[in-house]
Amino acid sequence: MAKRVCIIGGGVIGLASAYALVRAGHEVTLIEARDSVGSETSFANGGQLSYRYVAPLADAGVPLQAIGWLLRGDSPLRLRPRLDLQQWRWMAAFLGACRGSVNKSNAAHLLRLASLSQDTLQRWREDDHLDGFDWRRNGKLVTFRHSATFEQARSKVTDILQQQVLSAVDCARLEPALADGGFVGGIYTPNEEVADCHAFCRRLAERLEASGRCRFLLGRRVTAIRHANGVVRAVELGDEVLPVEQLVLAAGHRSAELGLPGLALPLYPLKGYSLSVPIGPQHRAPSVSITDYDRKIVYARIGEQLRVAAMVDIVGFDARLEPKRLALMKRQALETFPLAGDYAHAVEWAGMRPATPTGVPLIGASVYSNLWLNLGHGALGFTLASGSGQLLAELIGQQVPSIDMQGLAPRAA
Ligand SMILES: Cc1cc2nc3c(=O)[nH]c(=O)nc-3n(C[C@H](O)[C@H](O)[C@H](O)COP(=O)(O)OP(=O)(O)OC[C@H]3O[C@@H](n4cnc5c(N)ncnc54)[C@H](O)[C@@H]3O)c2cc1C
Repeated sequence: MAKRVCIIGGGVIGLASAYALVRAGHEVTLIEARDSVGSETSFANGGQLSYRYVAPLADAGVPLQAIGWLLRGDSPLRLRPRLDLQQWRWMAAFLGACRGSVNKSNAAHLLRLASLSQDTLQRWREDDHLDGFDWRRNGKLVTFRHSATFEQARSKVTDILQQQVLSAVDCARLEPALADGGFVGGIYTPNEEVADCHAFCRRLAERLEASGRCRFLLGRRVTAIRHANGVVRAVELGDEVLPVEQLVLAAGHRSAELGLPGLALPLYPLKGYSLSVPIGPQHRAPSVSITDYDRKIVYARIGEQLRVAAMVDIVGFDARLEPKRLALMKRQALETFPLAGDYAHAVEWAGMRPATPTGVPLIGASVYSNLWLNLGHGALGFTLASGSGQLLAELIGQQVPSIDMQGLAPRAA
């Protein structure tokens, strides 16, 4: 039976949820605080649809490695301790998740969801002719600067993920732009994809508008959620009260601000940065997506621009551009791909990954009978959006979900 669903948040997760719901015959109202969709963390992210590289950040050995990073001037990680209970709680839970066994089971949950996401996006592209967001299946090459990290990574390569171990020469043969990169080797995964997340959001919104079954309330911030007896009744938009039947919370890293009694949302923003470097005919930009493993920096060609993304800053809700961090990224990008684009005209951006301590998002029913969650996708929101939207639509439509929900359902978080 068709449901009336209200979604808070017009990022890639809220929009993919709306798209899957409308596709399944439901009616949607999508509320977005900004004047346009996809304008917060979904705006200029790395663009990688990284379906096979989903292992969470929290892993055995990471706390020790993090201490080493924090002592370095060119660290990919920055921590500004604050008098903020939310920050300390999140970090304590993160440390608790830094165990090999926990990482392995969470990686398995994410891999299931990522695989569903790849299939779902393929269906939307093929069945609905959804295009116009610079999608390509370009493959991903993870490159290593040190023999030790390369050897460690190659020992984990699996046939299941169709990965290939490449020497430095093979890397340069596959991706000529890498010729002077300073790498000892790499691991190539051919089925990975790339696209423009912001353009994807806009295309979803256009299709939703055209469907006649989705109403957008843009430039409207939900200020509170009204509830009684375990049921959500309405959302407040300042002075206006909008009654709701089913409500989806997909407000990214701000979701916890709308917290309700009994609803634990272990979210914290992990800030990162990107550069969008224009590519002209004279430039030599990589076509394959590159992850520079030892520097924790990623490169993806999206249309006529090179998207460079990096850094994890644990600094609270502070979305300002940090000139020092961006200068470091630009320097490293120039060292690796000096001829890839017009760095002088690179557009700088900062965004906040909506991160759970375990790296696994919360998707599905909450303790409120008609409140659904689709949030906490951290560093993988674009990758996981289509599958997460599909799962949510199935759950709201009371269908059997396409994949086992173990580890993904909020109550189990
Ligand atoms: C530097 C960087 C690089 C990244 N690279 C990649 C990558 O290569 N691949 C990948 O898969 N992922 C990547 N990510 C992660 C990805 O961008 C995020 O996981 C994803 O954008 C999160 O989407 P979202 O819809 O949950 O959040 P958002 O995009 O932030 O959307 C939430 C929306 O909710 C709205 N909102 C919030 N509060 C309210 C309210 N009270 N009322 C109404 N609206 C509200 C906000 O305005 C916002 O538009 C990267 C992130 C960063 C920062």
